[in-house]
Amino acid sequence: MRILAVLAMLLVASAAPMASAQQPDIVQEHWYHTYTTLSIDVNAWADDYPEIVDLAIAGQTELGKNLWVVRISDWSQETKPDGTSKDIVYIDGGHHGNEHLGTELAFLTAEFYIEGWAAGDQEVIDVLTTTELHVLVMLNADGNDLDTRWNINQVDLNRNYDHHWNEQDETQPGSGPFSEAETLANSIYMNTVVPDADLYITMHTGVWIMLHPWGYIPDQPIDWELFHGIRDDIHENISDIPIRNANQGLYPNSGTSRDYGYGIMGFPTFTFETDDEQWLLGTAESLSSRLGEELDVMRYLITNIWYWRARLSITSFVYDSDSIELEVENLGRATTANATVRYIDQGEVMWTSGLFSVNATNHSHVNLETTNLSLTTDGHFELYYQKRVIDSSIWVNESIPEELIEITNGMSAGWLPFASPIWAVLAIGFAGLRRNKRLHSNC
Ligand SMILES: [Zn+2]
Repeated sequence: MRILAVLAMLLVASAAPMASAQQPDIVQEHWYHTYTTLSIDVNAWADDYPEIVDLAIAGQTELGKNLWVVRISDWSQETKPDGTSKDIVYIDGGHHGNEHLGTELAFLTAEFYIEGWAAGDQEVIDVLTTTELHVLVMLNADGNDLDTRWNINQVDLNRNYDHHWNEQDETQPGSGPFSEAETLANSIYMNTVVPDADLYITMHTGVWIMLHPWGYIPDQPIDWELFHGIRDDIHENISDIPIRNANQGLYPNSGTSRDYGYGIMGFPTFTFETDDEQWLLGTAESLSSRLGEELDVMRYLITNIWYWRARLSITSFVYDSDSIELEVENLGRATTANATVRYIDQGEVMWTSGLFSVNATNHSHVNLETTNLSLTTDGHFELYYQKRVIDSSIWVNESIPEELIEITNGMSAGWLPFASPIWAVLAIGFAGLRRNKRLHSNC
């Protein structure tokens, strides 16, 4: 029945849209994208919504087709309203050219935010004010047009990444890591444009499941609290979709973009597999209803991106000449293990404390020896830590507001580098952090 219905639909829609306008809804909802129709649609978005759609090209396929990246954000503002950097989401679809529903989920996610912006949807406005979405909809455009898993060189692109490449004796992983134009371009985009991303979702079709690292070994990822927390949230509030580590949830696989995204780039990463249909070029049920639950999961992951890393927040900082007593909260859902306090003067690190950790959504009381620390007129303290525990995760440095720092006993006023002896003011900075937290917990 479904095949007949799809055929009927394709006949109705067979006047393929050639104009520059986006495809009509009936085509959009029932006919999977080819490279040509995708090119029409993403260019129409860029023409119609220049304030939020910035269309980029990450490179070309082996046959020279463009790897379109739809970049969606409120581009009138470079930063969040509070002046900090926007959070970055990276999404790709279509590693496997015959997995059309996965590619459509990438397209549908972009469409949700673009059309939501146009409709004045407050959830979408909040996201696009604070977040950049980078969506590379169709990575294997050559394979997509041939309706085949492989690229034009008969390589499985999702086994071609430079992370434990071919360790699982993979089928058709290519002649070496990044031997293919598509995967090389994708890795360059990750490394040069979105290295700070706090979420990477790669979309496929097969078994209905979400897979987190690892694929190449059966071990849980070192950031298991983050992945398991996300799993529990989704199961409690959104969907029963199975969520597991790839090696055990599906089968051992190596050289995947998911393991590369986590192991090399340090992103929290999921492979999102829609259901198992891999044979049709269209769908009788509309795509937005068929992928509605999956889109809800995507909205949850995107809306809450602020939490997908460690977010340290100091609530008390007392310096008494021998040591620093620190109370530090982790507002994020990922643990950080190698954090330090540093003293900076004119861009140079003058002193670094011992290491401390703060578990996900927890707090730590830390005592740090201050041997060799001497304060200077223009110096300041900062926190220096990794966003997540995985080695590849990037480091951040965040200034510690002066009003949070209390200096006590044993020091003469003349020794102190600051003009005023009144230090113990925590309330102002604390209130600021609280406000920041509330801003992001709107879902
Ligand atoms: Zn796939």
